[in-house]
Amino acid sequence: MEDVGKEMKRTMESHNLKQQYQAILKSIYADKDVKEFLKINQNKLDKNAVEKSASKLYEFVNEKKKLLNGHGNFAKGYQPTLILNDHLIDVSYQPTKDHLNLERQKKLAKNFKTVGMTAGIKNVNLDDYDQTADRAVALEASIDFIQAYETNPKSFHKALYLYGPFGVGKTYLLAAVAHRLSDDGFQTLLLHFPSFAVDIKNAINNNQVADKLNNVKKVPVLIIDDIGADAMSTWIRDDILGVILEYRMQHELPTFFSSNFSMEQLEQEHLSTTSRGDIEPLKAKRLMERIKFLARPIQVSGRNRRNN
Ligand code: ADP
Ligand code: MG
Repeated sequence: MEDVGKEMKRTMESHNLKQQYQAILKSIYADKDVKEFLKINQNKLDKNAVEKSASKLYEFVNEKKKLLNGHGNFAKGYQPTLILNDHLIDVSYQPTKDHLNLERQKKLAKNFKTVGMTAGIKNVNLDDYDQTADRAVALEASIDFIQAYETNPKSFHKALYLYGPFGVGKTYLLAAVAHRLSDDGFQTLLLHFPSFAVDIKNAINNNQVADKLNNVKKVPVLIIDDIGADAMSTWIRDDILGVILEYRMQHELPTFFSSNFSMEQLEQEHLSTTSRGDIEPLKAKRLMERIKFLARPIQVSGRNRRNN
């Protein structure tokens, strides 16, 4: 009697297991990601791959379900993915799109700093830079710079001095360059020069001039936007701009500029006259030599885009 009972229990248990196993297989086959994976890889898979990899497939379906309910076992931001492994199926954990986006935003926030720019400027992207013949040269030169710099960031690369009328997209292009460089891991500072001048004047009161100046001097890639837009005091010209340019030239650090003035105009009409009206052509010439060492001039023309 006893033996029959044991036997029956065993049969019932194995029957249960079998049923459980069938249920698992059913849930696996019902999963749309599994279906798609099997379809795409049908020629590469062992003919009993599903049975042989049942535990992996089960893990996949199960982890996905847990993730959906917010109880994933693996690091936050990672999701299970099916992969081929020697004609069988395995699970690998890959970062989710959201996670990658977040990481990218963090990297941008860390590498891309601005002073005196509108918040939206950080989202400007080379990929959706609308190219016209007027700006093709500047765009190409920017792309060439990025390529050369990223291939060999330690050696000197002449940057660009973009000049042309108001509203043609000089700042926009330089912001797109900064975005790309930051995204690729290079620290970049986009500085609206007139705002920075005000900023650093205010920094005298709380003893922060040296710190602010150091950040600008030493940042791997510097973009000085709108140089010449406001008259400069001798202090700003010689002790701030002059010091920044001198340091960057000595250390061969890439430095971009944008201006409404050509280099000649900047030298003669802007740098040689201080806000007090003193005329100092030699000082202007020295500054201009540094700018010319750091960047080559490219004219940008076209319509004023601020009016549409
Ligand atoms: P600039 O610095 O030459 O005065 P901006 O870069 O500020 O000009 O550009 C003026 C306006 O035109 C901005 O509002 C900017 O968003 C827009 N803009 C400039 N270039 C482009 C472009 N390539 N694609 C789309 N919008 C642009
Ligand atoms: Mg501008």
